[in-house]
Amino acid sequence: MRILVVEDEPELAEVLRQGLSEAHYTVDVALDGEDGLFQAQVRNYDLLVLDIMLPKLDGLSVLRQLRADGRDVPVLLLTAKDDMPDKVKGLDSGADDYLTKPFGFSELLARIRALLRRGKDVPLRLLQVDDLTIDLFEHRVMRKDQTISLTAKEYEVLEYLARHAGRVVSRTELSEQVWAGDFDAFSNVIDVFLYRLRQKIDPKPLPKLLHTIRGSGYLLKVPDSESES
Ligand code: CA
Repeated sequence: MRILVVEDEPELAEVLRQGLSEAHYTVDVALDGEDGLFQAQVRNYDLLVLDIMLPKLDGLSVLRQLRADGRDVPVLLLTAKDDMPDKVKGLDSGADDYLTKPFGFSELLARIRALLRRGKDVPLRLLQVDDLTIDLFEHRVMRKDQTISLTAKEYEVLEYLARHAGRVVSRTELSEQVWAGDFDAFSNVIDVFLYRLRQKIDPKPLPKLLHTIRGSGYLLKVPDSESES
């Protein structure tokens, strides 16, 4: 899940970036409204945390522009203390929820989870690819009856591949979605990382689920009877 934080107070922006990263979200930060609008227009985010008082372009204008573009990404507005008119305008402008500063991080997380769940009839709990099971609530991974212990990053990569099971995910896409573009697609960091992940989720003699597609990327899929490379 990828979140854009648009917040001009550098300290608060950094707290949000760190806290949300620890909660396993991929986080980008914009420090003014113009940059925030630009990033929200060029990338598909699952959610925006948007401050109202921003330099260059205020949060409400950013929000109106996004809605005018037809983008229905959930938006959680951050408002100054007791700024009632802003809250009302914010909801009128198409915000999904708002939070008044100062707020506790746990409350922010709860609001974000609620917004991300909204619109889905039943919250999805388990992802399954053959005998591999991923518990999205507890971040637990099982192959057959064995629990597999993964690092936070390995879990994120596996969850992403499982959400897109059956289709090849390119290195560029993984780099963008999981590492926020920290590695370029030709860096071998991703290959080494995926090699280790495969050792964990595909122990011999179980059939291989995670495949490297040479020149393209990675594919998590149910094994078939044909021979696999
Ligand atoms: Ca501000």
